[in-house]
Order: sequence, then structure tokens, then C-alpha cells
Amino acid sequence: MKRYITGLALIFSATIGRAADAPAQAHLDAARAAAGTQWANRVESFCRASATPKPPRGPLPVTLPEVPDWPEPPARIFDNVYFVGSKGVSSFAIVTSEGIIITDAMWAYDVEKSVAGGLKTLGLDPAKIRYVIIPHGHPDHYGGAQFLHDRFGAKIVAPKGDLDLISSGPAHDTTPIPKAYDLIVGDGDTLTLGETTVTFSVVPGHTAGGVVLSFPVTSKGVAHRMLIWAAGGSTPGKPAGQQQQAEALQRLIGLAQSTGMDALADNHGSHILVEAMRAHPQAGNPFLIGNKSLIAYLTMRQQCNLARLADTGAATSNAAATSQ
Ligand SMILES: [Zn+2]
Repeated sequence: MKRYITGLALIFSATIGRAADAPAQAHLDAARAAAGTQWANRVESFCRASATPKPPRGPLPVTLPEVPDWPEPPARIFDNVYFVGSKGVSSFAIVTSEGIIITDAMWAYDVEKSVAGGLKTLGLDPAKIRYVIIPHGHPDHYGGAQFLHDRFGAKIVAPKGDLDLISSGPAHDTTPIPKAYDLIVGDGDTLTLGETTVTFSVVPGHTAGGVVLSFPVTSKGVAHRMLIWAAGGSTPGKPAGQQQQAEALQRLIGLAQSTGMDALADNHGSHILVEAMRAHPQAGNPFLIGNKSLIAYLTMRQQCNLARLADTGAATSNAAATSQ
């Protein structure tokens, strides 16, 4: 009799597991379908199951060491946009008739060399930096803001939903927290300098209020629209963030469709595309992927969030069934 009950419990548990797994699989299939061949190698990282989260990282060292191979030579990637980041964080300079917008404040120890030094190498004047944007409230993206403000008078732009996160900063970290903000932005807010308007879209999940940026660019005189993914990915095992990021991605897909976004960069890892441009100057601009491909990318990320969310539900159901 006892064996029979145990067997029933196992069948019950397995049934719950299968029922809850089905939506996760459906979203995983949808993510793969959206990804096609172009984004196929990204599905695994974005859809990684909540059951296998990354191991927790240890605390950051008190003084963050400069990584020896950190620097990346600056480069012009569009008529009006320059890469001034490093191998660790990707920052861009949007050049307008009224001055320069820096899209990511980077680490405090990296900003002088990468942003100020990068602009000088490119023949641009860092004194013309008018704004520096903090896209989300982690120290690798706000650390250099105060420096650019103090040295060049840059106005500091920060996302409303991450102000508490920035002000609470990691206790073990020496990254300077901005003393004040000149512009606090939320979903749909814009920043205009000269002829260029940057639109901010809030994408929670990595942090509460991180933003992605979209703005017009030209390539050899032809108009395009660029999206910089700067809000981070959702964390496996955190369903609220996955749900919020999936909903934000739905809004962003709508915006990408209505505005024809067709160029994509990320605030981490874009140096790889810069290196590709440098190695193959005659090939097409790797940031310029087309509207269809950009929407496919966003759809893949959204379906991966939904797959993780469903997977988290399955894990919860299984745990409940097992404990009964
Ligand atoms: Zn982050």
C-alpha cells in the first residue's frame, strides 16, 4: 500500500512537471524560431533555465584592478556616432551640432582613458561633452559620471527607477556616486541636443529602472535608427524581473516597428563589432542589422524571458508536489 501511494505521488509529481514544462518549451521553441540562424547562438544564454542559475559571485575587491587588456581603440561607427568604450563596457559618443552625448558613464577608473582619451584620439574635443547617461544603476555604468561632470561640465542623466540603487552603491565598492543629477528620465522620456533626440525606454529585470536608448544615426548620409541595449538581461530564478522584462520588450518591439530601428548595439561586448569593422572595412557595418533582424532579436529575448518564467513556475510546482 505504501509503495502504491509513493508511486501515485511520483506520477502526480511528474504530471505537474510535464504540464508546467509545456509552456516553457513553447516559449523556447518560439525563441528559436524568432532567432533563426542569425541569433541562434544567443538563445542558450538568454533562455538558460532558472534551475541552473549562474553560481553567485564573490564580493568585488575593494579597489578594482584595471584589467591589462581592457582598452579598445576608439572608432567611428556611424557618421554621428563613435565607439569610446573598452572591452569591458561599451560607451558611445553621439556627436551633434550642439555638443556630445556620452551613452554610458563606464567604470570610474576607465572613463578618462576610454571616453576623454578616445574622443581626443578621434580628433573630437571632450570639452564639448554636454551629457553623460547612466543607463542603469550598477557601478560599471555610473562610475565615470562625476568625473565627466567635474572635468568637462557634462550634465548627468540617470534613470528614475534606479536612483535608490545608485545611492545605496555596493558597500565594498569605492566607485564615486554622483553628487547630483541634471536630468532624471523614465519610460518614453527624451533628451534633445542639437538635431538629435534620444528616447529612453525603461526595461526592468536586471535592475528596477534601467533604460535602453534609441536615436537617429546616419551611415554615409543614409538615415537609420539605432538601439543601444543598456538595461542588462533578466536574472534566472527571479520571476518578477522576467515578467517585467517580457512586458517591457513587448512595448519595445512596438517602438522598434513604428520607428524602424535597424541598428543594434549593447553596452557590453560591442567592441567585438568595432574590431570586425576595423578588420573588414569594406564589409557592411555590423551594427546595421535591419529592422526585421532587430525585431527578431527582441522577440527572441522576450520569449526567453517567458520561457524562464514558465520554467520557474514548473520548478515551484514540482517543489510543491514533492513536498506533499
Ligand atoms: Zn548591470
